[in-house]
Amino acid sequence: MDVGAGTGILSVFSVQAGAKKVYAVEATILAKTIEQVSIENNVQDKIEVIHSKIEDIYPDSLEKVDIIISEWMGFYLVHEGMLDSLLYARDNFLQENGLLFPSVAKLYASPCQLRIMYEFWDNVHGVSMRCIGKQYREIKSKTPELLCLDQNDLLAEGKLVAWLDLKCISREELDLLCGEDYVSVCNKDGRYQGICIWFTIEFPDGSEMSTGPHDEATHWKQTIVVLPVDVEVEKHEPIAFKLHLKKDTMCPRCYNIEVKVLDAEEVEHDIPCNCYMTKCIVTRTYVTDCIKDETISSTESYETE
Ligand SMILES: [Zn+2]
Repeated sequence: MDVGAGTGILSVFSVQAGAKKVYAVEATILAKTIEQVSIENNVQDKIEVIHSKIEDIYPDSLEKVDIIISEWMGFYLVHEGMLDSLLYARDNFLQENGLLFPSVAKLYASPCQLRIMYEFWDNVHGVSMRCIGKQYREIKSKTPELLCLDQNDLLAEGKLVAWLDLKCISREELDLLCGEDYVSVCNKDGRYQGICIWFTIEFPDGSEMSTGPHDEATHWKQTIVVLPVDVEVEKHEPIAFKLHLKKDTMCPRCYNIEVKVLDAEEVEHDIPCNCYMTKCIVTRTYVTDCIKDETISSTESYETE
């Protein structure tokens, strides 16, 4: 079953990969196009186009399927996404032990620089326009920005902020994603000007697609929460933040993204954490010593034997 089949290309790929039969479920007028595409590729006897929302298909009206494929991802994974529809399809049409393609989705976030947004107004053809820049960023900080971030503008490694196991996640669990306090440690000197969000998806065969700043650009780009003011940061400095992705009650296909800037002194850090704070240096040294001790004692016991 191809949920939200669109132009039907994944349905055709499925037949080419050996599927005996594919239900191509598409709610929009594109359902007609899928029929044409099927005929054009001579797979019309294997693709059954269902012009309907998946939620309007009665559970027992179709044979259970071995595999569900779907390109349901939206910006920052869940925006305008069809994940709810995919879960409906999973719960009603997937055989026990059936497979989902993709099967896992992970959301990452990292503090970043947004040099274009900040530096441009410092000197516009010789004229300083910082006051306009300030207003511009205040407006920009109210809605997420979609852009392809230069990987050099990431200030830290991506923090895994949500891990969705699509085989078992419930619809209720999608109401609030992330929601914890995070501490990222800067891997360079720079200016903290935003939070960059991206995602990866994984397939049952182990293959993966990533939409991060280090990867080839995709139409999802990255989602950036712009900070209205920037902060100078240095290598090994911890940046603490809280990220909330909460489903909008009025518009269930949208999320409200909220970033809270926290004081790194007041939140718990990872163990070990490679930031420059004394508490983390102490823990790091202790943990490293323990590992060293363990290695030595295991070597000793091996020698004794
Ligand atoms: Zn730390």
